[in-house]
Amino acid sequence: MIRATYPGSFDPVTNGHLDIATRAAGLFDELVVGVYDIPQKSLMFSTKERVELFSLAVAKLKNVKVAPYNGLTVDFAKKMGAKVIVRGLRSATDFESEFEMNMMNKHMAPEVEQVFLVSDLAFQFLSARLLKEVANLGGTIDHLVPQHVAQALRQKLGR
Ligand code: ADP
Repeated sequence: MIRATYPGSFDPVTNGHLDIATRAAGLFDELVVGVYDIPQKSLMFSTKERVELFSLAVAKLKNVKVAPYNGLTVDFAKKMGAKVIVRGLRSATDFESEFEMNMMNKHMAPEVEQVFLVSDLAFQFLSARLLKEVANLGGTIDHLVPQHVAQALRQKLGR
């Protein structure tokens, strides 16, 4: 039985995140999505909201659960009994930062393997940051996120 974890800030979950989670759920027996509690970036949604939004998005995937976490991702992986950390790769810029992180994680926890799934072409240019910017400026975001996330975004922005 191989359990994997997919960590991120998911502020909020996008179709790009969902694509990676769905594909990882097909590769591993169990997937725990780890919602990072306090990332070094300003957040629109609380940890509780981010967990709820992702949970609803993966409700149909029976081998996926969503949990918040603090501290090091490798410690969360070990605590969850996950042998694998899954990350999504969009562009060359993602690669550079993911490569660095991978090296550091490997140094801290050599027993945890890290697997990278290349983003679907449709989601290559989708980031939670850009999504929030577009939503904030009144652009259409319905094709980029699950319906309940689009609703939550509109509510947050008072639309
Ligand atoms: P974002 O970069 O959207 O703010 P996170 O920091 O929460 O998202 O990223 C969590 C993981 O999801 C990272 O591995 C990131 O590379 C990946 N990811 C983010 N957006 C996409 C996307 N559109 N397609 C594939 N993977 C993605």
